[in-house]
Amino acid sequence: MFKIDIKGIKKATPKERQIFKQAAKRLEILLNLDSFWVEVENHYPYWENKNYYTFEAFKNYFLSGADNFNKEIDRDLDLYVTFYYSFKSVVGYTHPSTYWTWINRRIFKNNSIGQIAGNICHEYCHNLGFGHPNTNRKSLTYQFGYLVADIIDKKSAKTIEDKYLKKSVWARIKSFFSKIF
Ligand SMILES: [Zn+2]
Repeated sequence: MFKIDIKGIKKATPKERQIFKQAAKRLEILLNLDSFWVEVENHYPYWENKNYYTFEAFKNYFLSGADNFNKEIDRDLDLYVTFYYSFKSVVGYTHPSTYWTWINRRIFKNNSIGQIAGNICHEYCHNLGFGHPNTNRKSLTYQFGYLVADIIDKKSAKTIEDKYLKKSVWARIKSFFSKIF
């Protein structure tokens, strides 16, 4: 089980905090689905700036949780976020020297749950050492985030989460009946 560990949320309103946690939870479910990684594998050959990682190596590295700031293989994604306000149309930023991520609340408030989850992945890819020269939208860092956003917001690969959610509802019904009978 891969976990998303929210270590710190600074300067957030209660509403921002709640939405952010909701997105992190949805992302955690998605990252634990084999069908999600099949989808990643299908797109992977078309992505750029992969630092010579094969799909398998990337998947293992991502799920190890051993990023540049926490090199221990703990199978979790550590999140440290600070909210701020900017008139610039940037979603947020981070620096190579810190695990903290800054989130522009002006953009955040119009983002979907999928987009927020996608941004978490984008910034995490930076923590793993992936970049995007000249804001290359075809880079792994951007494309991975877009894919996550599309799946959660049901714009593509629409069945991945649906199948999971259906299965979990059915599993719950079955366990409910097994308790009765
Ligand atoms: Zn970036």
